[in-house]
Amino acid sequence: MKNDELIVFRREGMYCPLGRFYIDPILPVENAVISHGHADHSRNGHKKILCSNRSEKIIRHRVKFESIQSLNFRKSIRIGDIKLTLYPASHVLGAAQILLEAKGRRWLYTGDFRLAEDSSCDAFEPIKTDVLVMESTFGLPIFRWRNELKVFKEIFQLWENCKQTKMNLVLYCYSLGKSQRILHGIKRYFGTSTFPGSIKVHPSISAINNIYKHHGIDFPDHSTFSPHKEVKDSTLILLPPSVKATKIIGNCKPCIEAVVSGWMAVRGNRRRETGCKGFVLSDHADWNELNRLVELTEPENVITVHGKSNVFRKYIEERGVGTSDLTLANSN
Ligand SMILES: [Zn+2]
Repeated sequence: MKNDELIVFRREGMYCPLGRFYIDPILPVENAVISHGHADHSRNGHKKILCSNRSEKIIRHRVKFESIQSLNFRKSIRIGDIKLTLYPASHVLGAAQILLEAKGRRWLYTGDFRLAEDSSCDAFEPIKTDVLVMESTFGLPIFRWRNELKVFKEIFQLWENCKQTKMNLVLYCYSLGKSQRILHGIKRYFGTSTFPGSIKVHPSISAINNIYKHHGIDFPDHSTFSPHKEVKDSTLILLPPSVKATKIIGNCKPCIEAVVSGWMAVRGNRRRETGCKGFVLSDHADWNELNRLVELTEPENVITVHGKSNVFRKYIEERGVGTSDLTLANSN
């Protein structure tokens, strides 16, 4: 391990040796800095958690830990020999980029992020860095998102078609982030129109909606879906993907079902969702945004995590920016 490395990889996950803390660790640890509330970044069992104050309520709701400290965006704290600052990453409410500074060097970990404007969460803030540790989940040129308004218009059109045929519209979307983006988008783009029907959301989505509302994100009127009650015609029903093909869908019938996800950009994935439509709407950066981030942050080296795309790395190297992996280090 070289002295100038501010993040290395241990068995427990990404580790900052100078601050003695882990970042989005995979295993339970003493000190964890958590970028956001999604389950693959926020895991149970850590002793102390540090997160953004906009994600504290979400993490408290979803994760078991001993103690939690939250930090405002752009406010720095010192941990050991490290100066740590959180910046908004868009993606979902409270998602943070984590900037580490020590010995005159800057390392920025993006967490999951998006550059495009999304009024359901905090706008991404580009930060110059020496080393950029970034997610590259959609690091292939086939992933290029359309303007979200076009997708929202298609969703609304399908909902109106459901009214004509006296059917409900079920959208499968993650409980944290995607569901709130859809609801907020419906209010933002169609708030002055008459809706084809009422809106119901799964209890897991309802709980997160309340946290978003607390932080000032507004939604159209909606109620909580009860798995034991039949739903009437042309209701828009938001459910997490985990309930797809379970018996609770019986209470939503007759209905049109659609999955809302960036992965719907892949034809093979759409085909696998038999009997389901697909809308391409992602909370992650697409190919253009991944490349744009490298331009905006001007790093000398890029380390990709969460999706290691060799195509993306080659593309970066062709522009004269180095790429590497995190150094593997032993746990103490
Ligand atoms: Zn995420």
